[in-house]
Amino acid sequence: MPSYVTDAIVTASRRYGEADKLLVLFTLEKGRLSAIAKSARKPKSSLRGASESFVRAKFELAVGRTLDIVRQVEILDPHLGIRESWRRLQFAGHVAEIVNKMSEERMPDEFQYNLLSDTLVGISNGRDDAVVRFKASLLDHMGVFPDLSACAKCGTERVTGDVHLAMTSHGFLCSECAKDSQVWHPIPMKVLHILHSFRNGDETDRVEGDDVAEALGQADDVLTTLLQAFLQQGFKTSGAAKHARKLDQDRDNNNVRNKTEPQ
Ligand SMILES: [Zn+2]
Repeated sequence: MPSYVTDAIVTASRRYGEADKLLVLFTLEKGRLSAIAKSARKPKSSLRGASESFVRAKFELAVGRTLDIVRQVEILDPHLGIRESWRRLQFAGHVAEIVNKMSEERMPDEFQYNLLSDTLVGISNGRDDAVVRFKASLLDHMGVFPDLSACAKCGTERVTGDVHLAMTSHGFLCSECAKDSQVWHPIPMKVLHILHSFRNGDETDRVEGDDVAEALGQADDVLTTLLQAFLQQGFKTSGAAKHARKLDQDRDNNNVRNKTEPQ
């Protein structure tokens, strides 16, 4: 059986047969593909660690008739931080699901591979904005990020106040056009700024303030709506990721309350 070597990230892993695992790999050279890790669930298997979700590794794969077969693996980054908390696992699972849905089988996409790798490092290191940055970059990469500089209907460039997300217009509307179109989905300027800086991949532009979690949550909602419109199907994990973010908001709200309460 011919074989090949590729860097890959495990985007899904499930039990298969007696002791095997069926992996979905997002590979650098060949894009997304499925592979069998034989006996990976046996305690002494050398494939055991590398067949966990979110691990980045160098895989040697044999070309099988239907599924490729994992021969050897060398772990490059286990992203161990992801396993430290439930919320990080939700975020990583959500990102992996998006990649699996947004990618074509066996269509290499180096940008998406690197974006996924960077995002998993960010989640593993506890970066709160990693998922939102990921979604913004991915939409931009797919060429479906709406224009943020002007109203999608009247073309006004200097929009003041809230803007409104209108999926029927594939973009954002000024308040006047939103009223005319009977669309009322107000998005604060702060959220628009987050979308703008994340779209440009501006790492230096840190989001700050007491309401960061709320603004990030709103930005996340906008991006999820755009991704869902792109796929026209729902994500199973967005509910859990949303819940994880809600816990962050509660934490921030408590901090604000503690700060403003008289001593
Ligand atoms: Zn307008």
